[in-house]
Amino acid sequence: MSSSPVDIIIAGGGPVGLYLAGRLIQRGFTCRVLEKRNEPDRHSKSLGIHPVSLELFDEAGFAEQFLEEGLKIKGGIAFWNREKIGTIRFDDCPPPYRYILALPQWKTETILENRLRSLDEHALIREAELLDFTNGDDSVTVTFSKDGKQHSLTSSILVGCDGKNSFVRNHLNIPFDGSPYPDCYIMGDFSDNTSFETNAAVYLHRDGLIESFPLPGKLRRWVVKTETYIEKPGSGQLAALVEQRIGHSLSGIKNVMMSSFGVQHFLARSFHSDNVLLAGDAAHVLSPIGGQGMNLGWLDAEACAETIGRAIKSPEDQPKLFQKYSGERRKIARQVAKRAEINMWLGRRETSGPLMKKVVKLMVKKPFSSLFARIFTMRGLGRWWI
Ligand SMILES: Cc1cc2nc3c(=O)[nH]c(=O)nc-3n(C[C@H](O)[C@H](O)[C@H](O)COP(=O)(O)OP(=O)(O)OC[C@H]3O[C@@H](n4cnc5c(N)ncnc54)[C@H](O)[C@@H]3O)c2cc1C
Repeated sequence: MSSSPVDIIIAGGGPVGLYLAGRLIQRGFTCRVLEKRNEPDRHSKSLGIHPVSLELFDEAGFAEQFLEEGLKIKGGIAFWNREKIGTIRFDDCPPPYRYILALPQWKTETILENRLRSLDEHALIREAELLDFTNGDDSVTVTFSKDGKQHSLTSSILVGCDGKNSFVRNHLNIPFDGSPYPDCYIMGDFSDNTSFETNAAVYLHRDGLIESFPLPGKLRRWVVKTETYIEKPGSGQLAALVEQRIGHSLSGIKNVMMSSFGVQHFLARSFHSDNVLLAGDAAHVLSPIGGQGMNLGWLDAEACAETIGRAIKSPEDQPKLFQKYSGERRKIARQVAKRAEINMWLGRRETSGPLMKKVVKLMVKKPFSSLFARIFTMRGLGRWWI
């Protein structure tokens, strides 16, 4: 079965694909998103939405919905082992978003999906798996499965927003350079029994990093570095490590989610090939410590929408525009990966010496704390690239 051609097909309706589709429709293009899942993945991943993304949402006209559902993280308290060594406030960040908004990723995806459906009720096709595509001179034809049948659809441009194992990237044989880091973590959401209120807390502990973030619904997420990868962590296991390292008890506290993750860094060697672009985790995977992968994906999506808008208006410029998108976004992805790497390195056992303590103490005091807050909130990455 085949349907009428559209301007753009997006493979993958995660946070990046859903956002990109909305931005393209707002520019007047027809767009279809193929998503193999029947609903957002409830497995908890990202929680941090940075001010740069809230500014994008504001321009797109839906920041309000995020602000209603999310919790504003106003700052972060830094500990060296159990000793409090400083606080980083986000008040110094440019107005109006002087905080990081905490919202579980599935809720973020639900807001983006509802927004997309309100712009075009047919734009998102769920339970539709991309199986194949051919990339011709001025069009792309995709084959996907839906309701046990194969369908085809043609567009001028295909964007791969299909995550780290991207079918689109693999089909184009674009190398994904990188490797896993040795670091592993377990994470759990518990009722908040701390006095940190709307602050995050980061413990640079000799036995391994502990991070703690407030979540909506009076919950708090604990992220704990472990020696080895624990496939199915229990809440008691996490509580024991927290108590042992920092003396905070989670015993008897309600737990609503447990998971574990290893970390890796990968970067696609190119973010385009002919009529196909890549954005989000399909193009780059960062360490989640520092929480920037999804936000970086939205910045890609904004640049991608701008690029596509220009390319459709002036098809003769498309190769140059796509090449520029690829070059600029790769450069920014490398910068963000470096920042994520520093965050992770700070949480390692080998950085727990007295000299490092002095350095970290300086980092969390003015004027360095303001600079650090800007880096942490993804400032200075250059939103506009043309
Ligand atoms: C533990 C953890 C914590 C994190 N915390 C943060 C954070 O706080 N802040 C932050 O910015 N980032 C964070 N991240 C990273 C963030 O989760 C990812 O960067 C983000 O999900 C990338 O979005 P995406 O849309 O590019 O890809 P994905 O979320 O992977 O979505 C891709 C979509 O494509 C679909 N798909 C795949 N193949 C096909 C196909 N063939 N056909 C149709 N559909 C397909 C998938 O079903 C999926 O829905 C975290 C990650 C982890 C693991």
